[in-house]
Amino acid sequence: ELTKAGWLLDITVLKLGHIIGEGEFGAVFDGEYLAQRVAVKTIKCDVTAQAFLQEATVMTKLQHKNLVRLLGVILHKGLLIVTELMTKGNLANFLRTRGRSLVGSVQLLRFALDVCEGMAYLESKKLVHRDLAARNVLLSDDDVAKVSDFGLTRAASRVSDDQRAKLPVRWSAPEALTKEVKYSTKSDVWSYGILLWEIFSYGRQPYPKMSLKEVMERVEGGFRMEAPEDCLPAIYALMTICWAKEPRRRPTFHKMREKLEQEMKKRCPGYDS
Ligand code: ATP
Repeated sequence: ELTKAGWLLDITVLKLGHIIGEGEFGAVFDGEYLAQRVAVKTIKCDVTAQAFLQEATVMTKLQHKNLVRLLGVILHKGLLIVTELMTKGNLANFLRTRGRSLVGSVQLLRFALDVCEGMAYLESKKLVHRDLAARNVLLSDDDVAKVSDFGLTRAASRVSDDQRAKLPVRWSAPEALTKEVKYSTKSDVWSYGILLWEIFSYGRQPYPKMSLKEVMERVEGGFRMEAPEDCLPAIYALMTICWAKEPRRRPTFHKMREKLEQEMKKRCPGYDS
């Protein structure tokens, strides 16, 4: 199916550059494909590659300004996944390195809205991300935030035996941490609440100073994080409803997008999505 649709790329056309990141399954390089700057993610393991290939088929059907775009794949020593190059790297690092003095609250709101729009699109397609976190949001040259690794996380979890050990505990809804894992758009909404907290605390680690065991126990017992310093009250209100124990009481991404747009208009009167 990938071949027919033209998603299989030609390795002789690809110009591989330097290593720009290290993924769980192999290195990430920058490069060029037909005059476009690209990122190339290498998947070494054959079994994993098979699963990723299936998921790549899902990715080809998704196109949105706030999702990292897949150009195609190359079968070469495993699998190469070619996506648009996000020159400013991941959102967590971006916020950590620049901090309050260089990034204002309107830009934070812009990032929150970008991610929300990408997720609202996935929600409309009934696709669950499962690993939404600031480290999986990448920034383009012109500071547009895009969700990355969608579709791929499912492939990864299908092949790893010790997936439980690698669960992103700090980002996981309580029901996603129980024995029979229950992922849904609503568990993505929980993770989005954590991501909002990461954005407004400039890339801090969620539940600071707590061990993973403490996080699991205390969140199950009803503990929730406090508002980050100087966080807009409307944003903290949004976080806390994302963290409703009952999944169906959490908002939709569609609804959150409206709220964030209102907030944006208050702060930038000329703002128009
Ligand atoms: P997975 O979540 O599938 O296990 P990973 O988290 O191990 O993947 P990635 O996040 O995909 O690995 O990539 C690792 C790093 O490489 C990222 O943090 C980012 O800095 C860089 N990177 C990945 N994709 C791109 C891209 N399209 N443009 C620029 N940099 C990228």
